[in-house]
Parts: sequence; C-alpha cells; structure tokens
Amino acid sequence: MKRKLLFIILLMVLITAVAAVFIAITKDSASDKEGAEEAKLKLVSTFYPVYLIGLNLFDNINEVEVKSLTDLDTGCLHDYQLTSQDMKNISEADILVINGGGMEAFLQDIKANYPDLTIIDASKDIELYQDNSHVWLDPDLYIRQIENVRDAIISYLDLNSSKATGSKKLDASKIKERLTENADAYIRRIEEIDLRLDEIKEKYLAAGKNSAKAVIFHDAFAYIAKRIGMPVAYSIPLDHDTSLSAEEIAAIIDDVNNDEISYLFTEEQYSDSVAKRIEAETSAKAYIIDSAVTGNGSKESYIEAMEKNIKVLESALFNQG
Ligand SMILES: [Zn+2]
Repeated sequence: MKRKLLFIILLMVLITAVAAVFIAITKDSASDKEGAEEAKLKLVSTFYPVYLIGLNLFDNINEVEVKSLTDLDTGCLHDYQLTSQDMKNISEADILVINGGGMEAFLQDIKANYPDLTIIDASKDIELYQDNSHVWLDPDLYIRQIENVRDAIISYLDLNSSKATGSKKLDASKIKERLTENADAYIRRIEEIDLRLDEIKEKYLAAGKNSAKAVIFHDAFAYIAKRIGMPVAYSIPLDHDTSLSAEEIAAIIDDVNNDEISYLFTEEQYSDSVAKRIEAETSAKAYIIDSAVTGNGSKESYIEAMEKNIKVLESALFNQG
C-alpha cells in the first residue's frame, strides 16, 4: 500500500516536471519569435513602384521587414488621403521610402506628425520631366531611384548601427553587403530593359516614325514616350475622379483628327472607355500600357510590366507580335 502511494506521488511529480518544461519551451519560442519581429528593421514604402524597390533590395534579408503603406491596388497617390491604418503603419516604421517629386501630397502631414522619422526620397536629385513625378517608367531613372534608396539606407545603417540597431541587434555590415549585392543584381536586370527601349528608339527613328504623335491619358506614359523619342501631342489625365463631358470628348476627337494623331496610350490601371470612343471615331489606335503602380506583390512586377510594355510598343510602332 505504502509502495503504491509512493509510486503515485513520484508519477505526479514527474508529470508536473514534464509539463513545466514543456510550458517553458513553448513560452520561450513564442517570445523569441516576438522578439525577432520586434528586432526587425521596418521599412515602409508609400506605394507600389517604391515598394518593389524595397522588396528587391531586401530580398532574403530577414532582418528587415518591407511593407507598403497603401494597398497594392491603390495606384498613383495623386489625390490620396491617409487613413488611420496608414498613420499606424508609419508610427511603427523605422524608415519611410517615398517616390518623391510631389507624388505624396500628404508628405507634410507625415513630417508634422513624425518629425523624427527617417524619410528617404527615391527621386532625390532627379530632374523631373514636365513636373511629372512618374520617373520610375524611365528605366534609367528607376535605376537612379534604386541607387538613391540603397545609398540612403547604407547611410542610415552607418549612422544608427550603435543607436537604433544597437537595441535592435542588427548586423549592419552583413546587411549592407547583401543589400549592395541585391541592388547590383536588380540594376543589371533593369539595364536590360533599358537596352531594349534603346533598340525600340533606334528602330523607331530609323523607320521615320518619329513624326507620329501620341495622346496619353495619364502623365506616367510621358517618361516612356520621351525615352523612345515619341512626341506626345497632349495628355488627357484621366484618373478615378476625372470624367469628361460629351463636349470635351467631341473636342478631343476633333483635335485627334486634325493633328493626325496615330496612337492613344491608355493605362491598365484606368478605364480605357474614353480612348475606345476616340479610337472609334478617328484613325488613331488605342493601346494599353502598364505603369507598374499596382500588382500582385511579386518582386518581379516592374520587370514584368516593362516587358509587357515593350511588346505593346513593338506592336504599336512596328506591327509586331
Ligand atoms: Zn500617376
């Protein structure tokens, strides 16, 4: 009897000990995970094109978390109003990457609310074409944006390696090394896109097509047009909030006929109904390009959009494809 009781007591002690060890282990790994999240450097980009820069620069760098401030289907931020969720995302950010050039009309609000936040302007020292902030659509300028972000993050890491990253326990030199490698690899791929636009430009000029004018429906395409030497007769900015009256459309149709416009370049992210109406009543043809302002969140999005655009241009200009 005594022996049986002793056995039961021993068994209970053993069960309690095993349970205690189990709880300690799970608790520990949970707090480790939380700690790891907490220790990450948080990089927030305002919208899709600059979010893609972050994704590519920090590919496979687990110490840095890359987020988009706005939803991936937001598109350009021309009239964007910050939401309370956006402000929360900014409050948690270590670095905010903006496109710059006036794209973020809400920038002053952010600066007023978060005076100590590190803000990286991807368009720093880039001369805007026609006061137009869609610089990423010229691959050459997109490369400069990538370099601007890379250099600014390296400066940030140098400055903060003892301060912010001290508490965050980041290995700054390791991150810098991988960041530089990632930037080089991404830039090489963008250079290939740039070369293909060069080829289109050469072929376009050689074919004497450079007198054929285009009408565009969002200023973004102006950078591609400039890149290949295509004259833009005018831009009819159509965003979500702009709609044209029947009279306005009729006037555009007259202009397109009188000015012998060949191409209408509209964009995937916006309705092409106006372009289709103009196409129906003129000899101009409508084409849809992708300005890479929305996407599925893949880091390949910019390259995929530009490859698509190259095909559209080849089909429009040389009847290929
Ligand atoms: Zn835009």
